[in-house]
Amino acid sequence: MKKLIIAVDGFASCGKSTMAKELAEKLQYIYIDSGAMYRAVTLFCLRNSLISKNIVDVSQLLDVLDELRVEFRYVPEMDKNGTFLNGENVEVAIRSSEVSSLVSEVSKIKEVRETMVKLQREMGKNGGIVMDGRDIGTVVFPNADVKIFVTASLEVRATRRYKEQILKEPNITLKEIKANLNHRDFLDQNRSESPLRQAADAIVLDNSEMTPSEQMSWLLEKINEKIAKI
Ligand code: C5P
Repeated sequence: MKKLIIAVDGFASCGKSTMAKELAEKLQYIYIDSGAMYRAVTLFCLRNSLISKNIVDVSQLLDVLDELRVEFRYVPEMDKNGTFLNGENVEVAIRSSEVSSLVSEVSKIKEVRETMVKLQREMGKNGGIVMDGRDIGTVVFPNADVKIFVTASLEVRATRRYKEQILKEPNITLKEIKANLNHRDFLDQNRSESPLRQAADAIVLDNSEMTPSEQMSWLLEKINEKIAKI
């Protein structure tokens, strides 16, 4: 059977990654979290003082961009793939609120996007992939077999993220999380390079009122409808 390319795009914290990962497991496909790649570049910038007062030193970053190795590797202790930056497992470090608050500044840089998109296309060239992000169905794989655009209300998304993040950062507040999601969505939708957009042929999934299992049934039904037509 043809190995599909499944693109999952949408707003911050609407459960894309969890859903895409589970879907990939069910289909025995590769799952790629494209946001993790932009997070890894952001972490690199922070560690190397390439961001000051929310402003990225673009020319210094471009000097070293080609040398950055961002990849996914299986991590036995986690029993899942982790994000690696220059050989180091940064899966936990890229999820900090500091990275979250700056990632949209880094992801708007044209050359950063070009470099990441090239890697993403390479990862998906043989199909059998579920990739989630902001521009997967519009830019990375405009001919993806299935495109899903996920959304949920800001309130629901912030509450979900808060429940996850409070376990890692006990001082974080719901208000801060909401502000970060809102800000990121705004920057992601309004940047000039590959802004977050719903592809014309995407199927919209508003999961505000859905349980994860309802969502998975909905998704599998849509995918089977698509497969039937291929
Ligand atoms: O998916 P996640 O929320 O981890 O993505 C972090 C950030 O990375 C997004 O807010 C966005 O700025 C950027 N991103 C992007 N294009 C993608 C995936 C993520 O610009 N395909």
